[in-house]
Amino acid sequence: MIDMDDVLTSGNFIYYLEEYLGKKIDINQYKFYSLQELLGNKKMDFFNKFKDLNMYQNAVLLPNCYEVLKELNEIYKIYICTAYIWPEIISYAGNNLKDKYQFLYENLDFIDPRNYIFAEDKAIVNCDIKIDDKLENLKNAKLKLLYTAWHNKDLDLEEENLIRVNDWLDIKRVLMKKNNTLQKY
Ligand SMILES: [Mg+2]
Repeated sequence: MIDMDDVLTSGNFIYYLEEYLGKKIDINQYKFYSLQELLGNKKMDFFNKFKDLNMYQNAVLLPNCYEVLKELNEIYKIYICTAYIWPEIISYAGNNLKDKYQFLYENLDFIDPRNYIFAEDKAIVNCDIKIDDKLENLKNAKLKLLYTAWHNKDLDLEEENLIRVNDWLDIKRVLMKKNNTLQKY
């Protein structure tokens, strides 16, 4: 199970946020997961202005993602599991999910759309391997790959079967290890 935001692509959310706030945002200085926190009490105003925009228009896959995922797809059964960007205005979530669907469909042509999962609580999915940038989304996996992001870079990973990956080449290294990983999972 692979997460979408900040694992497959970083989307446009940060650019819209910068546009709204009128300043550059250096995400590495923040520890919190949700960049919406930067909006403070202006959240609803921001939503009203940006909720209809496509967060994935012209977005690109992260480096090496396509090639590595394609290779992994030969060996593993891959599901993309992604959550709502706008949980606060859930009646609008359909627009965003449609844009997510379209991005996945256009950029990952070898993954069957029936393997997309849209869910807020990813712990409901039990599977062998999960890749996500949010630690709690890795629950219920035998092997957990935490994708490095601004909000998790200082976390110490002590749990067994929890591995940090910094990019898609790291993911390849971990998951293509022929001698043990494949036989174990
Ligand atoms: Mg994510």
